[in-house]
Amino acid sequence: MRIEELLQSNVYDVDEKPHIKVDQEKCSKCNSRPCLLLCPARCYTLMDEKVMFSHEGCLECGTCRLICPEGAIEWNYPVSGKGIHYRFG
Ligand code: SF4
Ligand code: SF4
Repeated sequence: MRIEELLQSNVYDVDEKPHIKVDQEKCSKCNSRPCLLLCPARCYTLMDEKVMFSHEGCLECGTCRLICPEGAIEWNYPVSGKGIHYRFG
C-alpha cells in the first residue's frame, strides 16, 4: 500500500483551536523555510511570499517543531480525543 493510501485511511477530529501556533514575525525573517519542504502533510504553504499554516491535516509528527530555525512554533498536542486518529489496518 502506498503512503498516500495509508494516510487517507486516517480520521481527523479537528480541534477548532489550533494546537500549533506560528509566529509570523519570525517567519518573515526566515530564509530557508524548511517547513515548506519537510511537513509531510503540507500544512505549511507559501502565498504571496508569506508562509501560511493550517492545522487541520496535521499528522502530529512534531517535525516542524524540530526543524524550525527561528523557534517560531509553539507546539502542543490537540486536546484529548481531537486531532488525527490513525488507522493501521
Ligand atoms: S521554518 Fe519556522 S520560521 Fe521558517 S517559515 Fe517555517 S515556521 Fe516560519
Ligand atoms: S507536526 Fe508534522 S504534520 Fe503537523 S504541521 Fe508539523 S510537520 Fe506538519
